[in-house]
Amino acid sequence: MNQARGGGPREELLGIFKGKVPAAFCETVLLNSPVTEMMEQCGAGWPRAHYDGTEMAELAAQIHRSTGFNAVNLPWDACVELEALGGSSIPAKSEVDVPTPAGPAFEDPECFTVPKDIFERGRFPIVFDAVRRVRNALGKEVAVVPLVEGPMNIACLSIGLNRMYRLVIRDPGSAERVLERAAKLCIEYGRRLLNSGGDLLQVSDPFAQGLAARHFLSLLIPIYKRISREVEGPVFLHICGNTKSLLPHIPESGFGAFSYDSPAVRTSEAVRSLGGRMLAIGSVPTVSCLLEGSEQDVIDVSMECIREGVDILSPSCGLPPRTPLKNLHAMVEAIRLWNEAAKRRD
Ligand SMILES: [Zn+2]
Repeated sequence: MNQARGGGPREELLGIFKGKVPAAFCETVLLNSPVTEMMEQCGAGWPRAHYDGTEMAELAAQIHRSTGFNAVNLPWDACVELEALGGSSIPAKSEVDVPTPAGPAFEDPECFTVPKDIFERGRFPIVFDAVRRVRNALGKEVAVVPLVEGPMNIACLSIGLNRMYRLVIRDPGSAERVLERAAKLCIEYGRRLLNSGGDLLQVSDPFAQGLAARHFLSLLIPIYKRISREVEGPVFLHICGNTKSLLPHIPESGFGAFSYDSPAVRTSEAVRSLGGRMLAIGSVPTVSCLLEGSEQDVIDVSMECIREGVDILSPSCGLPPRTPLKNLHAMVEAIRLWNEAAKRRD
């Protein structure tokens, strides 16, 4: 075992975020969520695990146990912040279901406020409990990666998507005020998750994809900078879909890494645009490859991502719950094969 591996995969991953160059390709797969085969293996499952800290923790730990991924994500839906702010969601009903946003929390953007006791509301206490439990269950080798909604997502879900986009174009001052309040929630939530045992935060901000590059740069980049500065821990950003026009600006966010969504963004393009200014995480397509492809397809695409320069391998986005477990094993196998071949070349 070489020096870089001395502290185990969690230390290795956190080291990469601090700028350490790993001795071999990183053995951690990020951006993972439970699939139904994991639920069958451990008895904890959706929909219950969205609403119960013990079951959420058990299922999150199972992501590692079933796949060998050295990191686990939780929670798995976009409604935790929205519900606590007073918005509505459609409850998850089956093993392939997550809570989905249904109605905004505020009709008037000027009314967007975060109550002082927000972290006692909705599912926040369940998520903190689950993060503590999964940290204890997995020990020091495996990274716990809590997911928070990004400021644009919190804003769009809380005041309504169309209203927020209209505000960005017609009243940027109001849009900025909403984003600033959303960012404050994001920062405080992130800090508490890291204090509860999280190692690395995933900020998920898919609605940012709909912004013109100039609005992304003028409105969202300063907010991202504030989040990356004030969270006081490693953070990576995930934005779904086609982010080609945003990519050159994303490194200015101050986040440690960007997780791009393939095939909307090609690996070569993401790596070139990020230009080594931040880590690239990605990006094995979840539907065409992980859900519908063979194990060999997954190995081939994973190898291509590594060859083209990603720093950390991951699915392109949230995993469809029916994704076969063998295809997730194939990602771990691809890293093993790559590192073995690299050792032989040395
Ligand atoms: Zn995504």
